[in-house]
Amino acid sequence: MKRVNHYINGAWTDSLSDETREIINPYNQDVIAVAQEGGAADAEAAIQAARKAFDAGGWAKTSSTERGAIVRRIAELIERDREELAELETLDTGKTMEESRGDMDDIAGVFRYYAEIADKDGGEAIASPIPDSVSRVVREPVGVCGQITPWNYPLLQASWKLAPALVTGNTLVMKPSEITPLTTVKVFELMEEAGVPAGVANLVLGPGHSVGAELSSSLDVDLISFTGGIETGKKIMQAASVNVKKLALELGGKNPNIIFADADFDTAVDQALNGVFFHAGQICSAGTRLIVEESIHDAFVEALKQRVEAFTIGSGFDDSTQMGPLISAEHLEKVERYVENGKKEGAELVTGGAKPSAPELADGFFYLPTIFTGCTSDMQIVQEEAFGPVITVETFRTEEEAVAISNDSIYGLAGGVWTKDTAKAESCAAGMRMGTVWINEFNVYFPHAPWGGFKQSGIGRELGRPGLDEYTETKHIMQNINPQPLHWF
Ligand code: NAD
Repeated sequence: MKRVNHYINGAWTDSLSDETREIINPYNQDVIAVAQEGGAADAEAAIQAARKAFDAGGWAKTSSTERGAIVRRIAELIERDREELAELETLDTGKTMEESRGDMDDIAGVFRYYAEIADKDGGEAIASPIPDSVSRVVREPVGVCGQITPWNYPLLQASWKLAPALVTGNTLVMKPSEITPLTTVKVFELMEEAGVPAGVANLVLGPGHSVGAELSSSLDVDLISFTGGIETGKKIMQAASVNVKKLALELGGKNPNIIFADADFDTAVDQALNGVFFHAGQICSAGTRLIVEESIHDAFVEALKQRVEAFTIGSGFDDSTQMGPLISAEHLEKVERYVENGKKEGAELVTGGAKPSAPELADGFFYLPTIFTGCTSDMQIVQEEAFGPVITVETFRTEEEAVAISNDSIYGLAGGVWTKDTAKAESCAAGMRMGTVWINEFNVYFPHAPWGGFKQSGIGRELGRPGLDEYTETKHIMQNINPQPLHWF
């Protein structure tokens, strides 16, 4: 049985309380590891290690080239151990090996990307209006960063936080989701191998209400970067106000996907499925809210139904599996509640809406891909994140109506629009109030493009240049090269 520990000040440690937690394979409920269950005291020890490492100045004062070299080495080690990491992610989350391998490639890409851009970041001179003076703007690390991640993309979300924090000279304490810590632990081993100095990157395992709350409220943490649900985000925002921490919040989404009648029908059907059912719909940017032009509604829903009913559901380690289980019994119950409520609200169940009947899936947290039609904006199933394999279908007649429906949400994370008419696509994209709009595409991320939400989907951005800037303070340094008395006083 694998045992996984905290990593504090360069040492792999047990919890101060001696508590542990069993980590469960969602495919069959086997115990796959025993993890330390930390509490506030473990978080505090890690925060003090990070504080000391930052205040000592060693890491922040290494050149960005040196830090970039270490971060590049982390990418190489992830590539070396890709298969082991992908297996751990599939064991821990149930997603297919193909998805996990793809995640590992993306993760290595994120470390490489930040290693490259940090290297070229020398600050900039600005024109000073004061004679005989020079002015320049430099960026400096924020300090000690608390980083809290969710269970759906455990290592991918961690990489979006670790790589920019490290290359910019911060120190950090990461808390992964208590139910999916395995790949994050492995990458901390790789960071140690790559030469990240003791105290710079610390890892505390354990629940949000103790470890996460301690990171959010500590006076010694300067920044919190959080990815997770909206209600947790609100609590963190409140706790973080205690010392006016810098905040980056990547929260939920209920993402519209607009399909016009002039879109390529087969591609739009295929991509609408990809937009939702990867990782059984447990994706913040899943395009679960389909908004289909009325004239093609019936044909579109029928095509979706036929495809969905042919899905192969099973173990992520089986090459033929297209969709794995949900993450936990608790989450399965949540999805079931949303679906039952959708039926009560009057949404029409086209397919799914139950657990699969196959006996070999009985021990896993499986749920059938589910389609509701006849949906309207006022329904809970349309407005809230079920965070499972559930599509709702609404209809529209005009472009204005489609855009208005897409914006009728507290969220603003991402959305898509499908049409062959480029002008129409661009005008929809301009009207859609969300951080990412895909045109004839869905759910594509890359390190160069910033990611984050409008409205209650969050604050700040990850990835791209903005994702690096979250981890720096901006400093203006002005020097008068010919100082003279003013003779004012
Ligand atoms: P969650 O909010 O329940 O938990 C996320 C993390 O916060 C976990 O590590 C948890 O332990 C911690 N936490 C819980 N309570 C806390 C508290 N009081 N203080 C500090 N930390 C606390 O979310 P989840 O169920 O793990 O993940 C699913 C959610 O994440 C969905 O809403 C999804 O949309 C969102 N998500 C968003 C993005 C994005 O990029 N915007 C990406 C992935 C997931």
